[in-house]
Amino acid sequence: FMTQASGADYIFKIVLTGDSGVGKSCLLSRFTRNEFSLESRSTIGVEFSTKEIQMDGKIVKVQIWDTVLAGQERFMAITKAYYRNALGALVVFDLLKPSSFQNLDQWYNEVRANAGADCSVILIGNKADQRHIRAVQYEDAKRYADERNIPFIETSALDATNVEQAFRTLITDIYRHWA
Ligand code: GDP
Ligand code: MG
Repeated sequence: FMTQASGADYIFKIVLTGDSGVGKSCLLSRFTRNEFSLESRSTIGVEFSTKEIQMDGKIVKVQIWDTVLAGQERFMAITKAYYRNALGALVVFDLLKPSSFQNLDQWYNEVRANAGADCSVILIGNKADQRHIRAVQYEDAKRYADERNIPFIETSALDATNVEQAFRTLITDIYRHWA
C-alpha cells in the first residue's frame, strides 16, 4: 500500500465519495491548492491531486482521488479501480440537502465493500457556511458517524472552515494505522 517514493516517506491513497454536487471537488481544490470556484465543473472520469504534508517529521504524500460520475452512471470496473488500495475515504454529504444524507449508506457501503474494513473513513457535512438554509441537523449526522465509529466534521470549502482539519484527521488516522 505504501511505496517509498522520491522525496516522500509514505504515499497514502485517499478517495472522495458522496452524491454529485455535495462539494467533493471543491474540498479537494481547497485542500490541495487553497482555491474555491463557484462553478461546478463536471469532468468525466477520475482525477486525482496530490499534496505533501509533514507528520512526525516524515513527509507524507497524499494522493486524493475524486470521482466525477455518480452512482449508477459508474461502471463496476471503475468503482473497483477507484477504491483499490485506498487507505482512507472522505464520505461527503451536503448539509443543505437531506437526500445526500439519506444516500450515505450507499457510499459508506461501497467504501467498505471495495476498500475493505481497514480503510479509515471520515464523514463530512459540507457547506457549513450556509447556516440559514441548513437542512441536516448536527445530532443526526453525529449519530450516523458514531454508529459506524467514524469521526464527523462539518466543513466549508467556500470559506475554508475545517477543510484542513478534516483531511488532517483522516491522514493522522491512516498514519497511526499503517506507518
Ligand atoms: P461535487 O459534485 O461533489 O464534486 O461538487 P462540487 O465540488 O462540484 O460542488 C458543487 C457545487 O457546490 C458548486 O456550485 C460549488 O460551488 C458548491 N459548493 C461546494 N462546496 C461548497 C461550500 O462549502 N459552500 C457552499 N456554499 N457551496 C459549495
Ligand atoms: Mg466533482
